[in-house]
Amino acid sequence: MTLHAPYDPDNIFAKILRGDIPSVKVWEDEHVLAFMDVFPQSEGHVLVIAKQSTARNLLEIEPDVLAQVIAATQRTARAVEKALKPEGFQILQFNGEAGGQTVFHLHFHIVPRWADRPMKGHGHAPMADTAVLRSLAERIAAELEPLK
Ligand code: 5GP
Repeated sequence: MTLHAPYDPDNIFAKILRGDIPSVKVWEDEHVLAFMDVFPQSEGHVLVIAKQSTARNLLEIEPDVLAQVIAATQRTARAVEKALKPEGFQILQFNGEAGGQTVFHLHFHIVPRWADRPMKGHGHAPMADTAVLRSLAERIAAELEPLK
């Protein structure tokens, strides 16, 4: 997929937003959804997406929506840090197939990191158990700061 192509309304995240396929939600509001990555690169890998925008990548996202998604990513990362106590974390965002992107609905990854735990490869991690993801999502959600 090039950086410039029409938005596919049947991409996986569009299907998740429509409720056509299940996801393990951490939290949502009218603008954004944070949910567990089903192929986590580390324990507590969360994805954050905009609900209404059909931007495929950073080039296309409307600046006001980008601000909402980034604020949501920070809110979620703070909760991840409190819940799971990683020693560090990565915020990842891929653009275009050549840039490593595999789902073409703009999203930010929150990948907790521990010095002694190698991160699994992007696109090569095994599928996680849903019950484990649910438990992690509950722990993260319990640490969310109130919405302003
Ligand atoms: P990208 O490669 O586009 O930056 O990231 C897409 C992410 O979506 C990957 O980390 C991948 O593991 C995740 N993913 C792919 N399919 C699904 C799915 O059906 N459900 C969830 N929750 N995550 C998915």
